[in-house]
Amino acid sequence: MAFQQEPLPYDPGALEPHGMSAKTFEFHYGKHHAAYVANLNKLTQDTELADKSLEEVIRLTFEPSKMNIFNNAAQTWNHTFFWNSMKPNGGGAPTGAIAAKIDSDLGGYDKFKEEFKNAAATQFGSGWAWLVLDNGTLKVTKTPNAENPLVHNQVPLLTLDVWEHAYYLDYQNRRPDFIQNYLDQLVNWDFANQNLAAA
Ligand code: MN
Repeated sequence: MAFQQEPLPYDPGALEPHGMSAKTFEFHYGKHHAAYVANLNKLTQDTELADKSLEEVIRLTFEPSKMNIFNNAAQTWNHTFFWNSMKPNGGGAPTGAIAAKIDSDLGGYDKFKEEFKNAAATQFGSGWAWLVLDNGTLKVTKTPNAENPLVHNQVPLLTLDVWEHAYYLDYQNRRPDFIQNYLDQLVNWDFANQNLAAA
């Protein structure tokens, strides 16, 4: 069965009052994410990978000779994870179990914000910033291009896409403003708590 593009968890205009426009979703979800899924299907059609789960394809293709498949599989997965990492009226201080763990593992919410902003701003070129569980401990990480925590045996809890296509329509070159808006208005801590509980 072909890989599917998961539906957005909210209306494409739902984040417009919170700093991410419907126009961005029209391109980022409707063109960029859709193209990764279409390419993945083209590249895996009639191969043994076509019947694997998306996560399995990601783990099986993380090697130089299969990088084209890996990139499209990981970008398919990363974007779905990113849409779920945001919600209308999100952002601000965390709640629940993740809040306590940020205090104990990362030294509190202010330290987390500082680390996350730094990771997202200093990923040179295209990539992703993440909050992950690494051997039971929270960590803030960044990855280049399509790379993600699944290939490093880490459990992803939240992500931010810092490819230029993620922010150029709304923020042009101002990546730091895009990162700040994500932290202040978009982060879906419920999703992070679900991922933490399932880990
Ligand atoms: Mn993207």
